[in-house]
Amino acid sequence: MDHIKAAARIFNFGAGPATMPVEVLEKAKWELVNWHEAGMSVMEMSHRGKEFVAIAAEAEASLRELLAIPAGYRVLFLQGGASMHFAGVPMNLLRGKTKADYVNTGEWSKKAIAEAKKFCEVNVAASSEDKNFTYVPKQSTWKLSKDAAYVHYCSNETIGGLEFQWTPDTGSVPLVADMSSHILSRPLDVSKYGLIYAGAQKNIGPAGLVVVIARDDLLGQALPTTPTVLDYKKMADADSMVNTPPTFSLYLAGLTFKWLLERGGLAAVEKVNIAKANRLYDYIDGQDFYSNPIAKEDRSRMNVPFRLRDEKLDAKFLEGAEARGLSQLKGHRSVGGMRASIYNAMPPEGVEALVEYMQEFARANG
Ligand SMILES: *Cc1c(COP(=O)(O)O)cnc(C)c1O
Repeated sequence: MDHIKAAARIFNFGAGPATMPVEVLEKAKWELVNWHEAGMSVMEMSHRGKEFVAIAAEAEASLRELLAIPAGYRVLFLQGGASMHFAGVPMNLLRGKTKADYVNTGEWSKKAIAEAKKFCEVNVAASSEDKNFTYVPKQSTWKLSKDAAYVHYCSNETIGGLEFQWTPDTGSVPLVADMSSHILSRPLDVSKYGLIYAGAQKNIGPAGLVVVIARDDLLGQALPTTPTVLDYKKMADADSMVNTPPTFSLYLAGLTFKWLLERGGLAAVEKVNIAKANRLYDYIDGQDFYSNPIAKEDRSRMNVPFRLRDEKLDAKFLEGAEARGLSQLKGHRSVGGMRASIYNAMPPEGVEALVEYMQEFARANG
């Protein structure tokens, strides 16, 4: 495998598992067989040994620094994918109440709603299904209930390519967000949230890890039937180690957090992300061979779906893209067309190469 060099890496536009920073992969490769003279790899360490406990503590400290997480919030490193926490959220946050408010802006919202219905009454406070999830409903139209245990929304709809560019205000009712596909892409005011959760495989690292950031006072009232490993309070009190955490994924997430800090933190990372997204959307808006259906002010900086004027050209477009090392551009099966996911780890050169290819393809086939 000596011939597989970083220089030969493709630009991977997949939505998740997604591209990771090459510097992180190189560092992990360097440390793989013998981590810091421990004589073993991170994968082989006891999660209770001093080496791994330090790795986990450092990952948490880096994440706290990146997001400026206030005291009074617990950081959990859990498993089960974001999908597991569609159930984990109501199990932990109903706190004796029987109702929760959900905002429906796309496929991931719908899945969260379906799961929550197993545990409580769900009030869909707002929805953009009437226009095929192409916009974010303004807060003034939301019908929040007074007795909701929390308000849940998906702040970046990975499949539809829809992102909240603002933070909802739910007063004293805790705000809960699935941030799987845009966490760490921009600064965030954690204090506005009761709970934030995110699967790692979009913008953090390898699959198998879920980050949960929860306000401490909301924890400790889980439904009695909650599995121990899904009980956020028990997990918080055990430093996420009631059982074996996904150790290697957590180690890689820690390297990614460090990588983001080295690049100047989230304000600096956001600037790059805005420039990448603008490059792609500006090109799409400036011609009529490709189109994006999302209301301009609600477009995702991370996931950019687009259609070709003639969908009979889709296969040819994808084939030509692959031949140039522009990979995984096929849109989600529920939406069709194309989707370019341009997470933190996608360098601007990748977006530039994509736009160049799109221009050439449109010229040759338009
Ligand atoms: C990918 C994704 C999920 C599901 O993640 P799994 O790890 O597959 O459970 C949930 N929500 C959003 C917004 C996602 O992008």
